[in-house]
Amino acid sequence: AQAGNYLRPTTLSGLLQARAAHPQAQVVAGTTDVGLWINKMHKRFAQVLDVTAAQELKRVETYPHHIAIGAAVSLHQAYAALVSERPPLKTFAQRFAGLPVRNSGTLGGNVANGSPIGDSMPLLIALDASVVLMRWDAKRKQITHRELRLEDLYTGYRTNVMKPDELLCWIKVPRPAETEFLRVYKISKRFDDDISAVCLAIRMTLADGKVGTISIGAGGVAATPVRARQTEATLRGQVWSADTVMAAVAALRAEFQPISDMRASAAYRQTVLGNLLQRFWLESQGLQAINLESVSMEALA
Ligand SMILES: Cc1cc2nc3c(=O)[nH]c(=O)nc-3n(C[C@H](O)[C@H](O)[C@H](O)COP(=O)(O)OP(=O)(O)OC[C@H]3O[C@@H](n4cnc5c(N)ncnc54)[C@H](O)[C@@H]3O)c2cc1C
Repeated sequence: AQAGNYLRPTTLSGLLQARAAHPQAQVVAGTTDVGLWINKMHKRFAQVLDVTAAQELKRVETYPHHIAIGAAVSLHQAYAALVSERPPLKTFAQRFAGLPVRNSGTLGGNVANGSPIGDSMPLLIALDASVVLMRWDAKRKQITHRELRLEDLYTGYRTNVMKPDELLCWIKVPRPAETEFLRVYKISKRFDDDISAVCLAIRMTLADGKVGTISIGAGGVAATPVRARQTEATLRGQVWSADTVMAAVAALRAEFQPISDMRASAAYRQTVLGNLLQRFWLESQGLQAINLESVSMEALA
């Protein structure tokens, strides 16, 4: 590469100034997505801006009500932080790619890439996560930012609201409520190192037997990662019962119009989406034998 074609600032302000000066440069983090555009799609980039050396963005910060994950934090570290807050996420975290990709890829890259079958977004939507976008304000000579709910980042298939001089800098994840019940389900053809056909994440709290907080993120069912707003509305305030769940299963299957592709047919995706909500109901009733943690490969062999 020629000098100046590969920019790797070591501070956040340096990074944002470089972004403002070179809005056409290809932003990269771990390049586990972008690398394939070069290897497989033969794309070439005249200039590359690498976010991973900005020291401020390599941290996970813990606050009373949320954790903030910097955009240069690896998937491995980011999921370790998420699992330490919410231990039931352990199996899901292990199913994100393989260790080499988890070590070089970032959570920021997963979110910014915005693939409808990316694994982190359904979970982050269910956790009510937000993203902080930053840019360099040349007049004031300082960093400015805006924060939005994660699902509001996306405008369509792999498009988002980020301006040419903005970068995704932080992902803020609220800390768990003691009473929350959280599950995230990844459906893929292979157990290990495979891309989701469907992903569903559900977080719920109950109050006096009724659904209080309900937050549902889904992947593989629309052009972007999505929040299942209609299904949430069907559930909110209702008695948590088999009848309520059956109504919500129907609502969830009707809420999205997935496509058929090599990973799954549209009909399969719609069916499995509802089945996963039923599984969530059964697990909430204490049925453990149906979750992945209880499956022994040795016993099945
Ligand atoms: C073998 C393999 C297995 C995989 N398995 C999975 C899987 O199981 N689940 C899954 O969801 N994904 C999977 N992926 C996809 C990929 O690893 C993830 O999407 C990863 O999180 C991308 O992060 P990255 O840091 O490598 O991003 P990069 O490839 O560097 O960038 C991805 C996109 O995000 C943009 N970007 C990156 N950082 C920023 C930023 N701070 N601000 C603005 N834009 C930014 C880039 O411009 C680019 O458009 C897999 C990939 C491979 C190669």
